[in-house]
Amino acid sequence: MHSSNPVIGNQVLDGVGWIAASFVNCYTVQDGPQTYLIDTGLSRRAGPIERAIRNADASPDQITKILLTHHHLDHMGGAAYLIQSTRASLECHEQDASYVDGRAKPPMPFLMRLFARVHPAPVAVMLKEGDRVGPLSVLHVPGHTPGEVAFYDSGRQILFSGDSVVERRGRLTLPAPRMASNLEQAVGSLSRLRGLPVECLLPGHGRPVRRDVAGLLDDLIRRAPKEFLKRP
Ligand SMILES: [Zn+2]
Ligand SMILES: [Zn+2]
Repeated sequence: MHSSNPVIGNQVLDGVGWIAASFVNCYTVQDGPQTYLIDTGLSRRAGPIERAIRNADASPDQITKILLTHHHLDHMGGAAYLIQSTRASLECHEQDASYVDGRAKPPMPFLMRLFARVHPAPVAVMLKEGDRVGPLSVLHVPGHTPGEVAFYDSGRQILFSGDSVVERRGRLTLPAPRMASNLEQAVGSLSRLRGLPVECLLPGHGRPVRRDVAGLLDDLIRRAPKEFLKRP
């Protein structure tokens, strides 16, 4: 059971909050007295997260871990600011860490590079496949980025999918192909996700999916080779 700490964000499940930070989703997960934040949104000052903390009347240091699904700016933009304001440890997969902490320049489509400013943040804990973070296990589902991870609560069958699979207009899909580091790998990772029982899918973009996640994933796996892997 989680503690009587306030849920930060809109409660979608017991002890799980959803923060819609413009076009990207962040989530909070309560684990006893601690709260984990999954992804930080695009905004450098992490406005939507800060507001959600205030609206919940929560203390910022209730957030003890910030878990990044991957290094893209719309997911890690507020990380540098939030590790200061919350004192949480920043955690991401070892293969994306160098893009988050600024040791490597993230690959980015040209137009995005013109407008986007990366704010590197030191990564305290490097995650890898099979690691446990409270009730969550780390699933390495590469392809969208080399170190893309999903977080899975097997007890409650909740999947925080990041950008490994996203929701759009009631269907599941992959994010824009030009953002992917390796599309074939991204399509392959869908089968990995399909192997898990999932009651509730909480994606990095789109709306939470609470019905027929398996059927929707099957539909995407059928469409994906044609939609995402067709060759010129
Ligand atoms: Zn992404
Ligand atoms: Zn994204």
